[in-house]
Amino acid sequence: KTLMVRTKEREYPIHIGPGLLSSLPRFLEDIGWTVEKRLMLVTDDQVGPLYANRVRTTLASKGYRVHVATVEAGEGAKTLRRLEELTTVCLRAGLDRTGGILALGGGVVGDLAGFLAAAYMRGIPFVQLPTTLLAHDSSVGGKVGVNHPLGKNMIGAFHQPSLVVFDVDTLKTLPRREVSNGFAEVVKHALIRDPKFVRWLEENSGSLMELRPEPLTEAVLRGCSIKAEVVSKDEKEAGLRAVLNYGHTLGHALEAAAGYGTWSHGEAVAVGMVGAAMLGEELGLCPPLAERTRRILKAFGLPTRLDGDFDDDDLLERMRRDKKAERGSYTFILPRDLGRVEIVRGVEEEPVRRVLRRLRGGER
Ligand code: NAD
Ligand code: ZN
Repeated sequence: KTLMVRTKEREYPIHIGPGLLSSLPRFLEDIGWTVEKRLMLVTDDQVGPLYANRVRTTLASKGYRVHVATVEAGEGAKTLRRLEELTTVCLRAGLDRTGGILALGGGVVGDLAGFLAAAYMRGIPFVQLPTTLLAHDSSVGGKVGVNHPLGKNMIGAFHQPSLVVFDVDTLKTLPRREVSNGFAEVVKHALIRDPKFVRWLEENSGSLMELRPEPLTEAVLRGCSIKAEVVSKDEKEAGLRAVLNYGHTLGHALEAAAGYGTWSHGEAVAVGMVGAAMLGEELGLCPPLAERTRRILKAFGLPTRLDGDFDDDDLLERMRRDKKAERGSYTFILPRDLGRVEIVRGVEEEPVRRVLRRLRGGER
């Protein structure tokens, strides 16, 4: 299936389905990337051994010249240092302004290789070949970049891909925890924008967790199109795009407080979304949604409780900082109904404290 994403910069297709990597030459041809275009395939040392050779051979058999550059797997590769090293590889390979970058991997490779493409010779085109479920999120929106010792994603740019080819078969080798991690953002996309999609996810969670290609294709397509719709209405984060941060205010606080890598991003956001639903209930903004949110997330193998010894004052402090809000007042994305959220400013501290307590409790 194909989704066309329209941005101010360009319009590009996202192809989603099983076995699509073998059709990559045709997709490249469709966007005008002929065999004269020199290609640099960037991947990591976990994904590379599984798929890079296949991609390279497929392209080489049609006459493309492809260099492969591999970085270490994991968030640690998103650094200026790796960017510089990749630049060296590109220069040595003779990649010029007419060249192109292929990003084969998860969000880390997508962000790093995308930023390389944004910066190399002031910008060359790039193609995303996502291999994680979470990368359905990062393949839309055009945000690329690397981390700084003082903060995640602190150095970056907006650079839209020319094409995304999401072969859902690659997800079969993805560790279970990473599958759940990715579903957190799929569920988020449903909860912020599409009650029908929420119901569909509830009904299909079993076959989705089994990674059946048809429902998986559908879920990735819906997730991408919701993100694309939100982003296209608000390309530079002015207002609407904030809804994509549903569950992220508490999520980011949890991730940071636990120490990055302890909770996966999706796990932290899952608890954050349950918290947001509870807060919506506490403030009388929405009908009861917390239990339902919990059930959906559980079905995708995600945590829904605040387990671990977190200090409430520390979490509150981090949540205030996250949105640069004033003392004693918080900004959250909160639900109004199933599949509908909005930004709420000036939330007081007491209900947030109640939610943190409730998140530690049992099945209430
Ligand atoms: P990731 O790229 O680190 O992948 C997770 C792990 O799975 C890695 O160890 C990787 O080697 C491995 N892996 C990937 N695909 C595999 C496969 N098919 N089979 C086996 N192993 C595989 O992490 P991620 O969760 O995909 O992405 C997280 C990153 O995405 C973060 O850096 C985050 O900041 C970024 N992100 C960016 C955006 C954006 O808009 N640009 C949005 C969301 C997240
Ligand atoms: Zn997120």
